[in-house]
Amino acid sequence: MHQSTPVRSAPPATLVGPDRPLPATTVLGRFERCAAETPDAPAVSCGDRRLSYRELDTAAERLAAGLRGRGTGPGRATAVHLGREVDLVVALLAVWKSGGVYLPLDPGLPADRIAFLLRDAQAELVLTGPEPTARQLPDGVTSATVDELSAFSAGPGAAAAAQPLRPDIPAYVIYTSGSTGRPKGVRVGHRSLLNVVLELAAAMPCGPGDRWLAMAAPGFDISMAELTVPLATGAELVLTGEELPRDPRALVRLVRESGITRMQAVPSQWRLLLDAGFDAPDLVAMTGGEALTVPLARALRSRVAGLFNGYGPTETTVLSTLWRVPEQVTDISIGLPIANTRLSLVDDRLRAVAPGEAGELCIAGAGVSLGYLNRAELTADRFVAEPGGPAGALRYRTGDRCRLRPDGLLEFVGRTDDQVKIRGQRIELGEVEAGLAAMPGLDGAVAAVHDQGAEGTALAVYVVARAGAPAPSPAQVREFGRTVLPSAMVPSLVVVLDRFPLTPNGKVDRRALPAPTGAGA
Ligand code: ADP
Repeated sequence: MHQSTPVRSAPPATLVGPDRPLPATTVLGRFERCAAETPDAPAVSCGDRRLSYRELDTAAERLAAGLRGRGTGPGRATAVHLGREVDLVVALLAVWKSGGVYLPLDPGLPADRIAFLLRDAQAELVLTGPEPTARQLPDGVTSATVDELSAFSAGPGAAAAAQPLRPDIPAYVIYTSGSTGRPKGVRVGHRSLLNVVLELAAAMPCGPGDRWLAMAAPGFDISMAELTVPLATGAELVLTGEELPRDPRALVRLVRESGITRMQAVPSQWRLLLDAGFDAPDLVAMTGGEALTVPLARALRSRVAGLFNGYGPTETTVLSTLWRVPEQVTDISIGLPIANTRLSLVDDRLRAVAPGEAGELCIAGAGVSLGYLNRAELTADRFVAEPGGPAGALRYRTGDRCRLRPDGLLEFVGRTDDQVKIRGQRIELGEVEAGLAAMPGLDGAVAAVHDQGAEGTALAVYVVARAGAPAPSPAQVREFGRTVLPSAMVPSLVVVLDRFPLTPNGKVDRRALPAPTGAGA
């Protein structure tokens, strides 16, 4: 299979994934086909609630009619403020059925951030669970529960006929951390999602009889694959709810008792699951989102039937490379490009690096997203012309440094900037700093990652009080952080300094910052 036989073609130094013609459909179309062919097969479950393909399709259809009645037209973002539960899936499919763009809002996001995302995406409607979102919504935005809009579908607005999904509108918008403090919305098209879904459906593989456990928060782009690969292939999607992902022992029990056959988690989650006794000899697992290590790959590979390491940024749709982890692991790779994907390694002037040298990875092909919402300049900076590619093709500059090894596989080396990963969550240190610098009485904040050995990586922040203002306590800094930042960006370690150490030219000397251990965090 393509894992071991990369095809190289012009221009040189481009790594080309296999050609796989994409069918003229969408992930929604695939789901609807499964609903027509296997209506009684189980489609989705969470705890005691389970829907067959027919029931899920009917529920999504009713909600879609309600959405149309509310005037959420094609191409408009509809926000979905639900956790990992059955209604999340009903809402996702309904948004697509109504021609809309899915905008996930994770439960627990601070109100200010929700308001920003809604304004930025110009969403007019937020779909919620039975307990409506008790928050102030920006002007012009209303909220409705899944139940009330589904009932509304029986009313007068329900008449609008279903339109086939237009391939030129995005499937979803997912926000990632922005280095200037402003999150950026990545617009991903239906074809890009279909490409990665077909790749995983073939590689893992997934089909009727499989049970895929989805545990990622909806705002994390891997959740798009978790939610859709099973539903596009006739398998069953099993959702964890909100509590289980925090309880590794309960998750291990669920995997065993529910006969889960496919699942993915970031390396730090796999570590916790293994410590809690995870052992699933019939399960095919995936990991990704941050660097895998040899000890973890060995431990996990010995407990599962198969293991994949997937690599890719949100901007190129969930994942762009895959590596099938061998039974005997000696080193870590991110593998090779998935189908319809072209990779190149470049220097800082976008020239191809010499074979074997590390360079910035650029990704072209079917996964390349439609760019950032409302950020034309940033889009133009990161999505650049693909030399030698099809007319108008763009490649995305990932900011990841990679190297092509002598064995022909890719190795992830590190970042070219200040983007970090904390438990798989993508964080720009600049966004943490900008968020905390807004705290009254603070002169500034500098964020850093702190390696805690076996406990993994922690986010640390150094703060200095404004002249004359009382120094805040670490708890106060964290409390303020929780009101402006998503939980993964709230530092677990806070160090209050009298002043920042400076370099001779007056910048903060990050290397002179003291280690945060035991610093009253
Ligand atoms: P993801 O869903 O893959 O986490 P993000 O956009 O949040 O997507 O983060 C993408 C970044 O995460 C990549 O640019 C890279 O720095 C890192 N990353 C993702 N997968 C891997 C992997 N398998 N190995 C190393 N780093 C990875």
